[in-house]
Amino acid sequence: MERRSRAILQRADDGGAWLMVKLDHMPNLDHIETVAGSKEQFYVDWELADTRRVRKKQRRLFFALLNDIVDHFVVPQDFLKDMFYLQYQYYTGKEISLADHTRSSVTDANVLIELVVDFMFEWHVPFAKGYELLPKEEQYFIYQCCRHRVCLVCGLPADIHHVDTVGMGSDRNKVDHTQHRVLPLCRTHHQNYHQLGPERFAELYHVPVNGIKLDEETLKKINVRGNYES
Ligand SMILES: [Zn+2]
Ligand SMILES: [Zn+2]
Repeated sequence: MERRSRAILQRADDGGAWLMVKLDHMPNLDHIETVAGSKEQFYVDWELADTRRVRKKQRRLFFALLNDIVDHFVVPQDFLKDMFYLQYQYYTGKEISLADHTRSSVTDANVLIELVVDFMFEWHVPFAKGYELLPKEEQYFIYQCCRHRVCLVCGLPADIHHVDTVGMGSDRNKVDHTQHRVLPLCRTHHQNYHQLGPERFAELYHVPVNGIKLDEETLKKINVRGNYES
């Protein structure tokens, strides 16, 4: 952030690419030599800067979620805002603000919102106002719903629907989930899913048609065994 530079890409002969970074000043060559052993060639760690400023939609979602927490715990909104800003700072080492002329980016705001969503799942705060604003297409949110067994569509207690079909007669508890895509759905929405079919269901509720793919280790961690298909 403090050392943001403009860069351009150029194809390299070996199929890779050159990343050319324009610096405002000549860097300290002695320092480079000390650190890298050479002034001509050295290594840099780079990170793509997100130049998109916080979106209105993100601000709305953040405050809608805060209000859900306000209603649940009866605490002032300002207190919560400061708490999450601080938590963000602790977590990333950067400051954040969603105020009108903020320098924070879309990525920054997403990290902040993830912290709030985490908090709400952890403390069983019902998603009321914020629920319909939540980006249900987002992997992170679906993952949290799976972990906490909450319906992706409505927030009620859910089972895990396995998108991939499993061969008839196989031992369901011994199914290898490595390749499996799952969707956390409550009883009603699970029935809906099977009545409407995946495509119409996904379109109606704005959820990804294929759910999310979780690796074996994650599935174990969140305690998904076998196939609950009915
Ligand atoms: Zn539901
Ligand atoms: Zn199902």
